[in-house]
Amino acid sequence: MNKPHHNEMLNRVIKRTISNRVFIAVMVTVTALIGGLAIIATGKFDWRIQQIIANRRTGNLCESRENGDLSSFFSEDYSSARKRFVEAGRLAGAIMSRLVLTDPGPSGEELSVDIAWMGSPEPKRVLLHTSGLHGVEGFAGSAIQLKILQSKPVPPADSAFVLVHALNPYGMAWLRRFNESNVDLNRNFRFTASAWQLQSQIYNEINGFLNPKRNRLFDSFLLQAVGLMARYDYQILKQAIAGGQNQFPKGLFYTGKDLEQTPLLYGDWLEKHLSLVQYLFVIDVHTGLGSRCQEILAHKGTATDSSVLSDKLGKPLQQDFVREQEDHYQFSGGHNYLYRQVFPQTRVDFITEEFGTYPNICVLQALRDENRFHQYGDRRLNHPGKQRLKEAFNPDSPAWKTAVIQQGLSLYDRSKDLVFE
Ligand SMILES: [Zn+2]
Repeated sequence: MNKPHHNEMLNRVIKRTISNRVFIAVMVTVTALIGGLAIIATGKFDWRIQQIIANRRTGNLCESRENGDLSSFFSEDYSSARKRFVEAGRLAGAIMSRLVLTDPGPSGEELSVDIAWMGSPEPKRVLLHTSGLHGVEGFAGSAIQLKILQSKPVPPADSAFVLVHALNPYGMAWLRRFNESNVDLNRNFRFTASAWQLQSQIYNEINGFLNPKRNRLFDSFLLQAVGLMARYDYQILKQAIAGGQNQFPKGLFYTGKDLEQTPLLYGDWLEKHLSLVQYLFVIDVHTGLGSRCQEILAHKGTATDSSVLSDKLGKPLQQDFVREQEDHYQFSGGHNYLYRQVFPQTRVDFITEEFGTYPNICVLQALRDENRFHQYGDRRLNHPGKQRLKEAFNPDSPAWKTAVIQQGLSLYDRSKDLVFE
C-alpha cells in the first residue's frame, strides 16, 4: 500500500522540480531578451558592437601589410603634434611660418596653422602637402609630415617642398572634425554667391536624428539608422548627409555662410608666397573613408589627365569619389577650389589621400555623438564622445598607423619624382 503512494509523491516532486526549472529558464530567457532589447534601444553598445564587427571584417587588411611599427610618429594631441612638426622643420632647415587663429585650444593655448618651406624662395614647381583640414583627422597627415621632415628633403633648383600642418587646428585640438564655428572646412571654399545656395529637403527631414540636442533614454543610433535606410535610398541618404548643408549651424556637415578664418588666412599666405609657381601639386591627407588601412586617392585637379597621372604615380586614381566606389559621395566647396581661385593661371594637380578606419555608419555615429556633446555639453576631452571620435578617425592600432605612414610616404616619394622630373 505504501509503495504506490510513495511513487506518486516522488512523481509529484519530480514534476514540480521540472516545472520550476522550466519556469526559471523561461524567466532568465525573457529577462535576457528584455535586457538585450533595452541595451540596443538605449544605444549603449552600438559603437562597441560596430567596432568588433569592423575589426573582424578588416583586421586582415592591416595585418597583411609589411612588418615594422611606425606608430611613434603619431602624436597624442594637437599641441605635441605641432611642437614636433616645428622642431623637425627647424632641424630640416625649413623656413617656418605660422598663421594664428583667434580661438584658443582646450588649455587656453594658441592654435595655429604651421608651414614648413624647403627650397627656392621663388619656386616654379611646388609639391605642397597638407594635413588636418578636418581637425581630428589630422593625426595621420601630421605623422606622415614628421616622417618626411626627418628625411630632410632637398628639392632641385627653382623648386620647393611645402608642408602645411593642421589646416583646422581648432578641430584637431578639440577632437572634432569641424572648426571653431562648427564649419566643415572642406565644404567652405565657395567663392561665388550662387555657391552658397544649398537646400537639402532630406537633411531637413532627418535633422532630428542627425543632430539631437540631448542624450535621450531611448536613443539607438543603429535602430534609427536602419529605419531611415528602409525609408530612403542609401545613396541619396548618404549624399544628403555628407554633401554639406547651411540650414543648421549646429548640425553636422555645416558649410558656414561665408569664408572662414582659415581659408582667408591661408589663401592670403598662398597668394603672397606662391604667385610665381607654374606647376603646383597638392596632396591633402584625410582619414575615415574607405576600407581600413587602405589608401584611396582621388584626383581633383585640372592640369593632368587622371589616367596619365595614375600611370606616373603607379597608383590607382579616382576622378571623383562618387562614381567608382559605393561608399563615396559628392560635395562642393572643397579645398581644391581654393587653388583654382588663387592661381587661375597655374597648372594645379590636387590629390585627396584618404585612409579608411571604420565603416561609414560607425564614423557617422561617432560624429553625431561628439557634436551633441560639443554643442550642448562641457566639451571636456576625456568624454567618451570625444575619445570615440578620435578613435573613429585615428584608430589606436600600430598596424593601422604603420600602414598609413608607409602609404603616405610612398605617395609623397612618387609625387616628388613626378613634380621634379
Ligand atoms: Zn576628411
